[in-house]
Order: sequence, then C-alpha cells, then structure tokens
Amino acid sequence: MGEAMERYFIKPGEKVRLKDWSPDPPKDFEGDKESTRAAVAELNRKLEVLQERLYAERKHKVLVILQGMDTSGKDGVIRSVFEGVNPQGVKVANFKVPTQEELDHDYLWRVHKVVPGKGEIVIFNRSHYEDVLVVRVHNLVPPEVWKKRYEQINQFERLLHETGTTILKFFLFISREEQKQRLLERLADPAKHWKFNPGDLKERALWEEYEKAYEDVLSRTSTEYAPWILVPADKKWYRDWVISRVLVETLEGLEIQLPPPLADAETYRRQLLEEDAPESR
Ligand code: AMP
Ligand code: MG
Repeated sequence: MGEAMERYFIKPGEKVRLKDWSPDPPKDFEGDKESTRAAVAELNRKLEVLQERLYAERKHKVLVILQGMDTSGKDGVIRSVFEGVNPQGVKVANFKVPTQEELDHDYLWRVHKVVPGKGEIVIFNRSHYEDVLVVRVHNLVPPEVWKKRYEQINQFERLLHETGTTILKFFLFISREEQKQRLLERLADPAKHWKFNPGDLKERALWEEYEKAYEDVLSRTSTEYAPWILVPADKKWYRDWVISRVLVETLEGLEIQLPPPLADAETYRRQLLEEDAPESR
C-alpha cells in the first residue's frame, strides 16, 4: 500500500482515540475538490477493469465493509466508488434491524450467508459490527454477551481470510457538525425526506456512546488479515478518493491472472467465418 494510504490503516493492537484523528483531508493534501474528483473517475476506470479480471479469474473473493454514523456516506460510496462496475460480479448486502428469524440464530448467521464467492466483490452496507455498535449502545444484549464478540468476529474474519477472502473495512469518519449539516440538507429537500428517519436524531443524541463503541471496534478488530481503514469523510470527494485508492491498490496487489487464451481460437474463428460461405449451406 502506498504511503498516502498507509496512514489510514489502523495497526493491529493500536489504541484508537477518535479525537486524535481528523475527519478532514490532511493539510499537506495537494488536490482540491475538482482534481480529486477527476482522480476518482480515473480510479473508477481502473476498478472496472480489475473487477472484470477478478470475475473472469474466479479465484479471489473480496469483502468490503462500510461502517459509519448515520449520514457518513455509506450509500454515497456505493454509488460513486463503484459506479460503472459490472453488477454481475458485485453485490451489496444491507444489514438492517434483524428479523425474528435472524434473531433466532447467532448474529453471524445472516452475515456468513452473503459473504463473497470466488470472483465476487461483496460490499457490506453496515455489517456484523452493528452487533457491537447499536447493540451495545442500546443495551440490546448484556455486556457479557457483546464483549465476547470482538474475538468471535476476529476469528470469523480469520476463517474468511484463510479460505481466500480479501477483507477491507472502512470506517467513514465524520464530525458531529457535518452530520448536522447533512441532516439539515435532507430536511430541506422533500425529495430527500425518504432518507430522513426521526430515529436518526435519537442516535445523534448518543454520539459519544457511538464514538466509544467505534473506538473499541477499531482498537480491537483491526488485524493483519482484516484491517480497518479510518477514512476522513467530512469531504465526500476526499472520502471517495481514499476508498478508491485503497481498493485499486489492493486489487492490483492480488496479481489477478486472466484464464489462458484459447489454444484453438483460430479454429473457432474459421468455423464462424465459414458459416456464411455458400459451400457450407
Ligand atoms: P439504514 O442503514 O439507515 O438503512 O438503517 C439500518 C438500521 O438497522 C440502523 O439503524 C442500524 O443500526 C440497524 N441495525 C443494523 N444491524 C442491526 C443489529 N444487528 N441490531 C440492531 N439494529 C441493527
Ligand atoms: Mg439511516
């Protein structure tokens, strides 16, 4: 991974305090909104090519996890970073309030069912991390239950890794002030009202509890095989750029091999061309 991105990777065992991190692009960042958007478009074309090769090779499995407070841009990332990639090989899994059937099982049951198969990229819009975030903040299970989950999650992700899955976990880090602006924007535009949920204000009131819960997630579940990447997300263009870069660099690192060319392509070519020749009618 290039140096520019390396700084956002949480090292295994690193203790994360969000107040030490910035939701804004770093001061030494040279791009502006326009040039960065152009860079994202360029990366998007690379992603398209890499994804097609991944799909054709049918060997690697890629899991992208998106987490972040309400309005942090999980849906926006799916729209802009993955724009134009072939929907055949890319799936999105949304994790909502669990159904009764899901609650009747262990919390990883619904998750394991939708992990990527060979050649696939699966994007988790929220994930099993909700089971140590919203579940913890709202006391949906007792502490002795959720506290065991960090280790269980690490083991689950280790299993996925050892069976050929590349895992990237992005935490979209926004400030409380930026969330306020985004919620106000949603309320100002009737076409965006569907995105507003009165419950969002209740969650917002618990901002500090969520920060604490996220700090524990980042400190306890960033591993060599499934790292957390802390993405400054107050600027949408910078957020998209960081995620695109990490994805493209990671996929490039997989050294995807296309299946070998057909040895007898020429024979098939002739066969097709001769179809129309009068003597074959
Ligand atoms: P949204 O992402 O806006 O569609 O909202 C999905 C909602 O489902 C969020 O409020 C999440 O906190 C909630 N949710 C997701 N997973 C769980 C879970 N395991 N337990 C309880 N609530 C969850
Ligand atoms: Mg929401």
